[in-house]
Amino acid sequence: MWAFLGIATFTYIYKKCDAVISYANKEVLLTVTVFFTLGSVLSYCRYRYGQTQHKPSHLGLVLQLISALPLAGFFFSKSSTHSDTDEKSHWRKRKEAKLRHSSQTESTPGTVVLASSDPDVIIVGAGVLGSAMAAVLARDGRKVTVIERDLKEPDRIVGELLQPGGYRALMELGLEGSVEGLDAHTVQGYVIHDMDKHLKESFLIALQNDRLRTMPASFLPPSPVNKPGVLLLGDAYNMRHPLTGGGMSVVLNDVQIWRSLLRNIPDLYDDIAVLEAKKKFHWARKKSHSFVVNILAQALYELFAATDNSLHQLRKACFHYFKLGGECVTGPIGLLSVLSPNPMTLIGHFFAVALYAVYFSFKSEPWFTKPRAFFNSGAILYRACAILFPLIYSELKYLVY
Ligand SMILES: Cc1cc2nc3c(=O)[nH]c(=O)nc-3n(C[C@H](O)[C@H](O)[C@H](O)COP(=O)(O)OP(=O)(O)OC[C@H]3O[C@@H](n4cnc5c(N)ncnc54)[C@H](O)[C@@H]3O)c2cc1C
Repeated sequence: MWAFLGIATFTYIYKKCDAVISYANKEVLLTVTVFFTLGSVLSYCRYRYGQTQHKPSHLGLVLQLISALPLAGFFFSKSSTHSDTDEKSHWRKRKEAKLRHSSQTESTPGTVVLASSDPDVIIVGAGVLGSAMAAVLARDGRKVTVIERDLKEPDRIVGELLQPGGYRALMELGLEGSVEGLDAHTVQGYVIHDMDKHLKESFLIALQNDRLRTMPASFLPPSPVNKPGVLLLGDAYNMRHPLTGGGMSVVLNDVQIWRSLLRNIPDLYDDIAVLEAKKKFHWARKKSHSFVVNILAQALYELFAATDNSLHQLRKACFHYFKLGGECVTGPIGLLSVLSPNPMTLIGHFFAVALYAVYFSFKSEPWFTKPRAFFNSGAILYRACAILFPLIYSELKYLVY
């Protein structure tokens, strides 16, 4: 068709428009004719071979050369079967080239890229997660831009205690330097010390004169967010009560999982690979840390904010349980510190405390009121289940991602 059109157009101009011909360069017109003819022959060949998907390599090379000619795209287009693949491979090559370039220029340890032209990743929020994620992705060769709405030092008591499991994640990410020079203190155990006299005085004065502030504490169980190109992470994705001080440990461990997942996805435009990674992340974090930190924080909060007799008994039993020592301390401390956050260990210790409360219930009743202990024990066990099972459900309800 193109051959016919090309020749017909040329003939028409040649025969009918003498004036035009006289001004036009005959060589140019000859070139146009040759161009049309060659293009049409190749278009025909491409069409034939395109049907079979087995294009000979020499023909492909010629087609690439022709495609590179100016205006060639107007006259014959690539077959749609190949254009998607070509475009994807073009993007992939572009991204790989960028990665190679980035790793040469931005892999210096300790470097955080705050702004980058044509970034691979844009992080909104330079909190604990955002800044850790930006640092590790930049070290892995990504171009990262971080957007933060407020760079003032926050005037609030948030993120005061970094659990050992969070510190371990920080070290494994190679970011341990970020806790240097902060006037940080190493906490040697979960022991409440008596306040020094001078501290106590300052504390009482502050209590009388300073504004008492409250912080809202929310519980946001994790739920999948499948929007392509977007990762929702940190407290915006999953939040729990700050009672156990586990929030930063969760986000740092999350960063660790995402870092290893993203290392296997060179092209972040690959939505299928990213969705697969999201699924893996959703479950990997439950097994490794988030299930325990979320449930422990919420369950302990309910015990410490006890509103009825059964909860009071559970709380009392909890403290007596810790006093037993041995595994009754090391197990819960392993959970609290996020060093060995095994979900089954949490469930086991939780019901051990409930049974311990039942034991105290029977022990505290004289023999003639023992039947009352049965009702009491039933209420305690019911209360324990009413705390734990909804929390487990909140973690498992997105079993099918
Ligand atoms: C009272 C309290 C005490 C806590 N104590 C501890 C503790 O002792 N130990 C512990 O491990 N965890 C603690 N946590 C939890 C911990 O602070 C969080 O889990 C952790 O900070 C979450 O990190 P993040 O990066 O997701 O959010 P954040 O650290 O809150 O960072 C979010 C950032 O995003 C920015 N931002 C928000 N919206 C936008 C926007 N639209 N555009 C640009 N920027 C934006 C914010 O300015 C902020 O800098 C506590 C939490 C609370 C509420």
